[in-house]
Amino acid sequence: MMMTNDDVLREAQEKGVKFIRLQFTDIFGILKNVAITIEQLEKALDGQLMFDGSSIEGFARIEESDMYLRPDPNTFVVFPWRPKEGGVARLICDVYNPDGSSFGGCPRSALRNVLKEASDLGYTLNVGPELEFFLFHTDPEGRPTTVTHDKAGYFDLTPVDLGENARRDMVLTLEQMGYEIEASHHEVAPGQHEIDFKYSDALDIADKIATFRFVVRTIAQHHGLHATFMPKPIFGINGSGMHSNQSLFKDGKNAFYDPNDSLGLSEIAYYYIAGLMKHARSFTAITNPTINSFKRLVPGYEAPCYIAWSGRNRSPLIRIPAKRGSSTRIELRSPDPSCNPYLALAVQLKAGLDGIKNKLTPPSAVDLNIYAMTEEERAKLNIGSLPGSLKEALDELAQAPVIQEALGSHIYHRFFEAKMEEWDSFRVSVSQWELDRYLALY
Ligand code: GLN
Ligand code: MG
Ligand code: MG
Ligand code: MG
Repeated sequence: MMMTNDDVLREAQEKGVKFIRLQFTDIFGILKNVAITIEQLEKALDGQLMFDGSSIEGFARIEESDMYLRPDPNTFVVFPWRPKEGGVARLICDVYNPDGSSFGGCPRSALRNVLKEASDLGYTLNVGPELEFFLFHTDPEGRPTTVTHDKAGYFDLTPVDLGENARRDMVLTLEQMGYEIEASHHEVAPGQHEIDFKYSDALDIADKIATFRFVVRTIAQHHGLHATFMPKPIFGINGSGMHSNQSLFKDGKNAFYDPNDSLGLSEIAYYYIAGLMKHARSFTAITNPTINSFKRLVPGYEAPCYIAWSGRNRSPLIRIPAKRGSSTRIELRSPDPSCNPYLALAVQLKAGLDGIKNKLTPPSAVDLNIYAMTEEERAKLNIGSLPGSLKEALDELAQAPVIQEALGSHIYHRFFEAKMEEWDSFRVSVSQWELDRYLALY
């Protein structure tokens, strides 16, 4: 249902809202907000609210720091965990320059631009994400540990499973906020969980992912736990992914479905797969943007590291889930939940559209276990690898004009600079692994 500014004003009044958080994300996907009172809401909805963007990392320089927030009325939600009286609601905003043009550092606008490119070709993008996360205990000072709720050491006496209770509370809260939860379950690793919500158009889903991470962390805190979307918090067990199930729709029909094809996939679907595969190495810095992301993309933990696709097998980068008809979709398995959801969806769509525009053909599907192959066998089948480090991923991004275009020049340059700095800081640090390996030996 589309909301107007008047609908928002009426609903805010009816629900006794006192404070409204105007939210947006920085280029790293971190949710920022400016809080206003209900008295300011009308002015804010008219896009007249200014803020200083210069203090937000990677956002704007001092000389271009005056920004305007334009709330999207469709994103109005009252926080269910806040008191009924003097309630708190939020609106997600696009960021604009004082002259009324769209701000180049606004990730939500970057996604809108690629969505526009798709809609010019007649397509809308639907996405169903699968977010995984860990629940950890906090120490007596409230700092997160890596002690999980189901292997809780000295917390073992806890009479109830804190994690399962927290997850139930998360699901109920998300439902009150308009999420349709399709599944929620314990994941493979101890303390690891997954909550899946119903697919929707890409902009709505990016908003929902940004909000999801914040809601899950908030509710975990209410249960005395810390929720983390860090991709690989513990060595030796599974990390957390954010599989991205995607399909294009045209004229209300799933454009990836063709009942006459042996796999039930349309020509458009094959082009899209080919586009994702062609650009996979270049967009990894966006879908897997942290040093830690690359500790997840290794063999043995259900995360992909080779660039291949399959109709059946779960090991490759791209899998085609069994459902056909209007549910036909492509599952990209590399993204992790530390990404900026707006940018991650923008680059995936851009890659897929490039495949469509250039009628790219994907290599043959690989239905064998790629992990069991030797390097020579992989080379023979032309199976490449995802980048092995943030540095390698950034080097690929630097050579990929198509992916850079999806980000826009402002975001690309700020992102690249900040991530190179992150890489450098990691590169010079001395880790526990090095001490364990070398300290006594040399
Ligand atoms: N946790 C795995 C990953 O890192 C996925 C596990 C699964 O959902 N089958 O992608
Ligand atoms: Mg799943
Ligand atoms: Mg999973
Ligand atoms: Mg999956």
